[in-house]
Amino acid sequence: MFSYRMPTEIFFGRDCLKTYGARLSGLGAHALVVTGRSSAKNGALSDVLSALAANGQEATVFDRVVPNPTVACVREGIALLRAAGADFIVAVGGGSPMDAAKAIALLSVEERADGEIFAGNYGVRALPMAHVPTTAGTGSEVTPYAILTNDEKETKTSISSPALFPKFAFLDGKYTFSLPRDITVNTALDAFSHAAESLLSRAGTPMSKMLAREALRILYPVLPRTGGTLSAEERDELLYASALAGMAIAQSGTTAVHGMGYCLTYFCGIDHGRANGLLFGETLRLCEEKGVAADVEEACGADAEEIRRLLDGLLGERENIPRESLLGFAERSVGNKNIVKSVYEPTKGEIERIFLRSFGRQTE
Ligand code: NAP
Ligand code: FE
Repeated sequence: MFSYRMPTEIFFGRDCLKTYGARLSGLGAHALVVTGRSSAKNGALSDVLSALAANGQEATVFDRVVPNPTVACVREGIALLRAAGADFIVAVGGGSPMDAAKAIALLSVEERADGEIFAGNYGVRALPMAHVPTTAGTGSEVTPYAILTNDEKETKTSISSPALFPKFAFLDGKYTFSLPRDITVNTALDAFSHAAESLLSRAGTPMSKMLAREALRILYPVLPRTGGTLSAEERDELLYASALAGMAIAQSGTTAVHGMGYCLTYFCGIDHGRANGLLFGETLRLCEEKGVAADVEEACGADAEEIRRLLDGLLGERENIPRESLLGFAERSVGNKNIVKSVYEPTKGEIERIFLRSFGRQTE
């Protein structure tokens, strides 16, 4: 038995905001446009503002979202939303603005003290949202998750609620043309990791597996090209595959790689997608040993060794992280809610081995 829920209406393709921007008129009278500092440069923000103006809707721009959004940033957004009298939200940017927007949409209708934000059991209401991704990507535009920095636990933690599915997602690959090499690679690694981890999840369903396999089928051949110059078609493929991978994790959640990667981001400042890429190869090696890697290999059309070689090439030189820190990250990761969903749940010793080997450290 399984269920499938993905209520976001997707508009995909060149200039979809121009073609379908009138649909925003049903969301409210005044938009809080949640974005980051550089988003104005890729054309997405001006397209959103033009669509809102054409509909006669007011807009207030909150452009102070930084990578790995914090609770303080979300509170600042809520204060601006209230001061402006905004009644819906448009998110423009990568996963960080999209996740901050989701948390603003939820916490502005369901107030919580800082200590309660990650306690779960949210109601079913949030302000209506439209998302415009400019990376490819997190797939946040089609997931019910918002991932925030959790300083109390010294990690990143997801808030999950069906109310966090945006009403609309406008996916136009042209907004990703301006992505520099490193962000292109790191965000593609995130999408790759979502699809593969979804296949390695105990919570996978026939629908999530179908979406994850299709995401890998499209993404894997483009992945080697992310380190060079991508064509417009390849950018579109990455964005499409990243949305499919998002739809897959919307059902299954992510698993061991994400569960371990959060430590690398929190303590070492490593970009989210790169953190996943760095840990993926050794996690796949363990899955291979335990006989659960075949689905991923088949969907990629490559064996685990080839997949590791490709990732190694894209990742380049690895960070120099002391052995003691890596062992500490392993200790913190044990029992993580994503890791326990893995089809093969790694033991503490295996988690240590993944962290150590991923950074070229001896396991003995
Ligand atoms: P990001 O943190 O949103 O953005 C990284 C950088 O890329 C920022 O400096 C951003 O600039 C810049 N950027 C964005 N679009 C650009 C463009 N078109 N051209 C040039 N620069 C651009 O990165 P991300 O990897 O997309 O998102 C990562 C976050 O998403 C993490 O917090 C992660 O935990 C979360 N995540 C969420 C989900 C989910 O389901 N909700 C899934 C996976 C990951 P700005 O200053 O303009 O922002
Ligand atoms: Fe991710």
